[in-house]
Amino acid sequence: MSEAVAVNPWVALAYLIAGVCFIMALRGLSSPESSRKGNRYGMAGMLIAVVTTLIENWYPSHGIDPTSGIEQCRVSLFIDACTHEGLINLGYIAAAIAIGATIGLTTARKIKMTDMPQLVAAFHSLVGLAAVLVAVAAYANPDAFGILDAATGHIHQVSRIEMGLGIAIGAITFSGSVIAFLKLNGNMSGKPIMLPGRHVINLGTLALIIGLIAYFVTDDSLPVFAAITALSFVIGFLLIIPIGGADMPVVVSMLNSYSGWAAAAMGFTLHNTAMIITGALVGSSGAILSYIMCRAMNRSFLSVIAGGFGAVADTGGGEAKEQRPWKRGSAEDAAFLMQQAEQVIIVPGYGMAVAQAQHALREMGDILKKEGVRVKYAIHPVAGRMPGHMNVLLAEANVPYDEVFELEDINGEFAQTDVAFIIGANDVVNPAAKTDKGSPIYGMPVFDVEKAKTVLFIKRSMGGVGYAGVDNDVFYMDNTMMLLADAKKMVEEIVKAMG
Ligand code: NDP
Repeated sequence: MSEAVAVNPWVALAYLIAGVCFIMALRGLSSPESSRKGNRYGMAGMLIAVVTTLIENWYPSHGIDPTSGIEQCRVSLFIDACTHEGLINLGYIAAAIAIGATIGLTTARKIKMTDMPQLVAAFHSLVGLAAVLVAVAAYANPDAFGILDAATGHIHQVSRIEMGLGIAIGAITFSGSVIAFLKLNGNMSGKPIMLPGRHVINLGTLALIIGLIAYFVTDDSLPVFAAITALSFVIGFLLIIPIGGADMPVVVSMLNSYSGWAAAAMGFTLHNTAMIITGALVGSSGAILSYIMCRAMNRSFLSVIAGGFGAVADTGGGEAKEQRPWKRGSAEDAAFLMQQAEQVIIVPGYGMAVAQAQHALREMGDILKKEGVRVKYAIHPVAGRMPGHMNVLLAEANVPYDEVFELEDINGEFAQTDVAFIIGANDVVNPAAKTDKGSPIYGMPVFDVEKAKTVLFIKRSMGGVGYAGVDNDVFYMDNTMMLLADAKKMVEEIVKAMG
């Protein structure tokens, strides 16, 4: 058993407060109205946790060595405060915080909203790597981490389980997140890479890792530790390469969950309650989000993990589209049709984010409302490139929350709607998801835009396809008018035409 570590009650209280802040943060983030407050709670919680951890390890705890009877300083995790080395270590910590904070601040200021998913994937990779590095440090110096069994001279058996799990989940999170980053950032093709016999290879490797973790409990030698680490890096890579196209959102939230569990496992090794709480919160909320997203795409979690989704995307979409007739409209046509309407439902998608058309869109909505048209915004759970992407952009443009509706709350209304105004969305309005069993997006619930009297469809060209890479029958319907232009430019022209 790992030796019990006495916890200073003030430290425990501070960690408890930090934990409550994190729970309040999650609660706040559940709605766009309270999300800013939620973020502030999260920041406060993290500040309390970091400062407490530093203070806890700055002051040495004293104890009497049972064999010599001499009072001793406890060598803390980061700082040996009994020697001058402590000051040097504190310098390292301050430098690391300064470098991390500078990178974080500059990235957050510069990052475009459309690049957010890859940023999140990159951050997850760092959490995974941190868990691996902590495990390596603990393995190299178990005494400093309080996990050395003095009687045997080996790491405590319970700590070996925590360490094995932490390093395995951390390494999987790291390599998986790097692949997700490369795919989302366009450095690697988004298409699934299907290795022959991949299910057998993956299951075999996972079984081997579990077996090695179990063996590590009896034998904590370096080769076993190194084998767990190396195989976990490899399986993270193997698990993510066959996942393509429209399944990436689930992968990102799944990796988010893994990063939480990795942190929680390392929290046990470090005897840090705040890390255990935070890790468990991130792990469970990420798992719940993955489940919700799978439900939104009508896919089972296992089929996402098994990969291959989106493999037929390119072959299915491209060929027939140029030959089919379609109608082109102008900004004036669109303005006229909407001004005559009783109800307009706006369906935003990734293209609205690329064009940053949300402010012009709100202006258009305001004009229509003044003219007595009912305006509603329909948000699909996976529209854009990250969960809540559209909600964030519409909130930024001050679109009233009571005009924004979720898929299941508004889908029944398209049949009674005069105009469905699709701005930069594609996959989330593709009826192939309902009718075409061979389509890679088959089974994903989509908006019934084709049921509206008129569909106005903004995109830049007929050739451009959505994330899943499939053609869309809505382009060619009799009641569809294609408005081919950059979304922001087109909406600005419509606003002008509304006079
Ligand atoms: P899509 O990716 O399906 O379609 C985007 C559309 O926007 C395309 O038709 C494109 O056509 C158009 N577009 C791009 N730039 C512009 C522009 N500047 N002006 C006007 N139009 C533009 O987006 P959806 O939101 O419908 O669907 C999201 C997809 O992304 C789903 O498949 C989802 O699974 C996936 N995904 C979602 C994530 C999430 O968490 N939400 C994360 C990662 C992936 P054109 O090029 O012709 O302009």
